[in-house]
Amino acid sequence: MSVSDRRTEAERAWQRLEILAACTDEPGRITRLAFSPALKEANDLVLGWMREIGMAASIDAAGNVVGRYAGAAEDAPAIMLGSHLDTVRDGGRYDGALGVVAGLAVVERLASASCRLPVAIEVVGFADEEGTRFGGSVLGSMAMAGLEPSGWAARVDIEGVSAGQAAIAFGLDPARVFEASRRDTPPSAYIELHIEQGPVLEDRGVALGCVSGIAGALRAKVTVSGEAGHAGTVPMDMRADSLVAASECILAVERIAKQFQCIATVGQIRCHPNATNVIAGSVTFSLDLRSIEDGRKSAAAEDMFRAFGIIAASRGVLVETEITSDTNSTLCDPRLTGIIRKALDETGCPVIEMPSGAGHDGLNVAHIAPIAMIFVRCARGLSHHPDESITIDDLAMGIEAVVKTCTMAAGEYD
Ligand SMILES: [Zn+2]
Repeated sequence: MSVSDRRTEAERAWQRLEILAACTDEPGRITRLAFSPALKEANDLVLGWMREIGMAASIDAAGNVVGRYAGAAEDAPAIMLGSHLDTVRDGGRYDGALGVVAGLAVVERLASASCRLPVAIEVVGFADEEGTRFGGSVLGSMAMAGLEPSGWAARVDIEGVSAGQAAIAFGLDPARVFEASRRDTPPSAYIELHIEQGPVLEDRGVALGCVSGIAGALRAKVTVSGEAGHAGTVPMDMRADSLVAASECILAVERIAKQFQCIATVGQIRCHPNATNVIAGSVTFSLDLRSIEDGRKSAAAEDMFRAFGIIAASRGVLVETEITSDTNSTLCDPRLTGIIRKALDETGCPVIEMPSGAGHDGLNVAHIAPIAMIFVRCARGLSHHPDESITIDDLAMGIEAVVKTCTMAAGEYD
């Protein structure tokens, strides 16, 4: 394909991203929540585009839009491309939608050359990856992977509408959502193009990155209990100041995360009674600890909790830690990753392998198929934000890399 044809292809994908950005539940912002009218509009648009370019397409029982471009043999297994079509509130135009329009571009290129690969190409737009509306994210891909989160239909949004009611309004039957399962007919591979959501590629001056896996995350709630007292009368050496102890704990989190090459964040802190003239009696803070290596994450957590104990003893406070969730990492398929490295190289992109610190639909799809991801550089690493930004040249490179990956993988995953 010539450079100008590639540019035209990227412009068409860009235009589709603009059209999808206009589908919103909140005028003036980009907000497409699970099972909402805006998501329905986006699904219908994608469904139309899929049919236009020669795919058999439908909305599955979980509200995911799925299209299939047949392979050389009618019953050939499929390589699945895609991402999610929902967004956070006041989100950007690329997080999610990028992977769907890139999938369409790949099929369009094959169809316009009347090319049938040994495998079919499926494109999916997942519903509810972000979990913004009902909490508990990635319902669309969970359903496809045959994983049923208990009690999902009873979860309510901020207006009191349950996920079950919203699913009905969306045209689905909540009792049959998990008929979207592809456990018995899994794709032979799943490849997702997604914005990086971090600043690394931009910092290195590289358009695309090969994702090694999706990091596991441990979340904990840490409570530091000391003794409240008068800010003017209790001498410095007679205090059990929970806020100072918590500060020391937070510094320990940073130090230990670096030492174990993990990523850790304390993003939330509550102090009681939170008054200018009172020594803090108790403090609660969050801990979010991530790593692509589960062993590293566990070892870092253990070290952090040990450090909290030492700090508690030296400051005369009590530190209690409650782990609220702990998920393992999901590695991308090494064989697929190898193909992507080659595809990036042939696309003229230096090969950088990097973990994804954020969760993605691939976490679920990995239960039924080997997965891989390609990241696209985004300005200042911004995501979940209206200023989310990529360039059309990077989009063109991303599409090219996915086309090459599919072509190379077709022979191995048929
Ligand atoms: Zn996303």
